[in-house]
Amino acid sequence: MDNMQANGNALESAKQQEIIEELSKQYALEEEKTGKKKTYHIVTFGCQMNSRDSEKISGILKQIGYEETDSEDADFILYNTCTVRENANNKVYGHLGYVGKLKEKNPDMLIAICGCMMQEPQAVERIKEKYKFVDIIFGTHNIFKLAELLRTRLLSDRVVIDLWKDTDMIVEDLPSDRKYSFKAGVNIMYGCNNFCSYCIVPYVRGRERSRNPEDIIAEIKDLASDGVVEVMLLGQNVNSYGKNLEKPMTFAMLLREIEKIDGIERIRFMTSHPKDLSQELIDVMKDSKKICKHLHLPLQSGSTRLLKIMNRRYTKEGYLDLVDRIRTAIPDISLTTDIIVGFPGETEEDFQETLDVVEKACYESAFTFLYSKRTGTPAAAMENQVEESVAKERFDRLLKLVKKCSAKAAGKDQNTVQKVLVEEINTQNPNLLTGRLSNNLLVHFKGDESLIGKIVDVYLEESKGFYYMGKLMEQ
Ligand code: SF4
Repeated sequence: MDNMQANGNALESAKQQEIIEELSKQYALEEEKTGKKKTYHIVTFGCQMNSRDSEKISGILKQIGYEETDSEDADFILYNTCTVRENANNKVYGHLGYVGKLKEKNPDMLIAICGCMMQEPQAVERIKEKYKFVDIIFGTHNIFKLAELLRTRLLSDRVVIDLWKDTDMIVEDLPSDRKYSFKAGVNIMYGCNNFCSYCIVPYVRGRERSRNPEDIIAEIKDLASDGVVEVMLLGQNVNSYGKNLEKPMTFAMLLREIEKIDGIERIRFMTSHPKDLSQELIDVMKDSKKICKHLHLPLQSGSTRLLKIMNRRYTKEGYLDLVDRIRTAIPDISLTTDIIVGFPGETEEDFQETLDVVEKACYESAFTFLYSKRTGTPAAAMENQVEESVAKERFDRLLKLVKKCSAKAAGKDQNTVQKVLVEEINTQNPNLLTGRLSNNLLVHFKGDESLIGKIVDVYLEESKGFYYMGKLMEQ
């Protein structure tokens, strides 16, 4: 990002701040008249990137003068959409059907939609045609413009649609309403240049652009001074961080800088792409006191032939060598992955290669997916789509093996004392607290809710497979 761009972004940030200010005065007057605040509700679909965008949207709406409500029957309702799977869109249409009825009773209600689904022209056409009551439509590239779009809607009384094909803008310093007080997601980059042949993300999230390290460091320092002890660094492919910066910086170098920030005790990151995961990063993770012992390393397939057709740009051998180097350098690392079964053209031999990698990598856990055709991706147009029954049968075999491997890894920390970040009161049993280990596994134990947000020592009494039951140690 050069100075010109940086100035442009700063000007845009100031402009949006001004509009937020202007609207907040307007809303304050209205509140005086009506005696009540306008309410808003956000429905977020999809990944952690979307959750982070929703925190920014919530921050802007709160500064304008809205208050959050947990019902869709609000004065302002926003759907932050996902489109990674074909059926993700159907969920949104379902919500619109319901909220359309609410708007008949409350015509002043405003309905907005943003996120990845809105980057698909056919989805926008369908909404314009079938859901004419929608007031504001925007995408993934201009979340920061919400206040301006809202003002335009209020002034013009017509549907506001503002969709960008792509952008090189990164607008900083806008309000954000974080879900947790003790942990926070921090975007380090946006977009993806990898174009894996089954994935829609590069078409809806645009080209890779990294935030300036100074802005990331400043944000994390602010978070630490607010009491945040754990940060999750977010990007579609964090390993290619820094390539578009005027002064290129590697992800490993960025991690070293974040490690120096007082108050931050834990650093997590996702998502990694095996083709860009450097030895430098492995060394930084090995020497770090703060980077958590968990790495999510999507495999997708164990067949080098299929990985080529998926455009993943690594081989089975390269991936296993990487796993080897990671496990040697960080023996107590927890490795998790994503695997697709039934990708077009997948043969039994290809699938055996996947099973072989799972056996050798012995993941602590794995997200396994049946391939789902995604219109707009190269794979969707491929001839030899795998029969559903064949894919399903393979999926069941894979699941069995994944469970066998994770059972082997489960419980290895039983009867040890581990550091746990206390996250919440257990949702099943209010007498228990739930916390998270560095390797991302959960622990449930007795303790006072005043410990939420703290890192405490817990004795892991019993492994229950994907979680532990524990006992709080004297603090
Ligand atoms: S790395 Fe591949 S799978 Fe991940 S977001 Fe980019 S294109 Fe999609």
